[in-house]
Amino acid sequence: MTVVADRIYTGIRELAAISGPTVPRMGPAMADLARIPDAGLATAGGKFVWVGPRAKLRKEVRLRRGGARVDLHDVCVLPGFVDAHTHALFAGDRAREIEGKLAGRSYREIAAEGGGLFSTVRATRAASDAQLRRQTGVRLRRMRQAGTTSAEIKSGYALTVPGELRLLRLIPGLARSVGLRLVPTFLGAHAIPPEFDGRADAYVDQLIERALPVIARERLARFCDVFCEPGFFSVPQSARLLRAALGQGLGIKIHADEFVASGGARLAAELGARSAEHLLAAPAEDLERLAAAQVTGVLLPITPFASLSHLSSPGRALVDAGVPVALGTDLSPNSWVESMGLVLSHAVYGARLTPAEALVGATVNAAHASGIADVAGSIAAGRTADFLTFETTSLEEIPYRIGAVPAVVYRQGNIVFSR
Ligand code: ZN
Repeated sequence: MTVVADRIYTGIRELAAISGPTVPRMGPAMADLARIPDAGLATAGGKFVWVGPRAKLRKEVRLRRGGARVDLHDVCVLPGFVDAHTHALFAGDRAREIEGKLAGRSYREIAAEGGGLFSTVRATRAASDAQLRRQTGVRLRRMRQAGTTSAEIKSGYALTVPGELRLLRLIPGLARSVGLRLVPTFLGAHAIPPEFDGRADAYVDQLIERALPVIARERLARFCDVFCEPGFFSVPQSARLLRAALGQGLGIKIHADEFVASGGARLAAELGARSAEHLLAAPAEDLERLAAAQVTGVLLPITPFASLSHLSSPGRALVDAGVPVALGTDLSPNSWVESMGLVLSHAVYGARLTPAEALVGATVNAAHASGIADVAGSIAAGRTADFLTFETTSLEEIPYRIGAVPAVVYRQGNIVFSR
């Protein structure tokens, strides 16, 4: 049987389909790119309709009248990047904190002094919708230029119920105006707001009673996340919030063990969370628990770099423990990175993933962590035609070249960025 295509692409030296089973990849499967040398690719109506060896194209694909044949001229092709963890929705910046960080002050010290996260909270609360849309839209466009075609995006810089709902309500419009698939996550529990100092439980009550029901009813978020860490939310507070979110039909994620081993990963395994994120200080036995529960570990290898942390990203340890690993930028005012190409290189050189594992982490596993693997993260018939071309001689060369940028970014079958 032949399929009918709007566009047929050739001139593909190597293509990583990263297709296959509908579960996150773990263990040895993390290095399986489903590589096709001398590949052909066909799209119709913004979706992939065929992918395979070029030699089979002629027999299996027919170009519809008015369709186009495109020679990509000897490139490598990847699915569009999926950024599994961003805090891209905020106002202002914190460039002036770099010197404090260099002087040895920790994230928690800076936060305790009302700087850090809370200075972004003040800027975000003070910004109009138009200002937030403009500032965030610029970042999202730069993410897309760097090859990201889908991204998870968290609220979390308002820290009031109406403010957090306002942030979530801005996300669909941003996705439409930028042309990016955005997966909203409710992170009202990003930190204890100053108004609730010493009363974290009362803040959690508000989130459960006044935010979650509205989010569920209006479908404002796919996931609920919590910053589970000493000085932020305890394990019992995190568990209470996440159980309530599950009860409202939301998926759950946890910022776990970023600074110290605090039980976040263990809680993620107990609750069967979609993902546990950061994990810099997670003990080995808790990584085993994540693997047993098949909870995806979201690795954010630029965060310790940007935080001048002595901790290193546990990429190798996660893969070796059998945890499915996804990658994200953690784009925030604390670690301002828009490029998944840069994340790939840090995942390899810093977190010791192989290039193939890093590519899987930045595509199909990130799509699983974001609940969109049915449409994004791999090149297979029926998925959205989001893909990238790179002028490299092999797929491995993409993470190898530090901060590689795509030559062309395709979103829904159309060119949205070209160098
Ligand atoms: Zn984060």
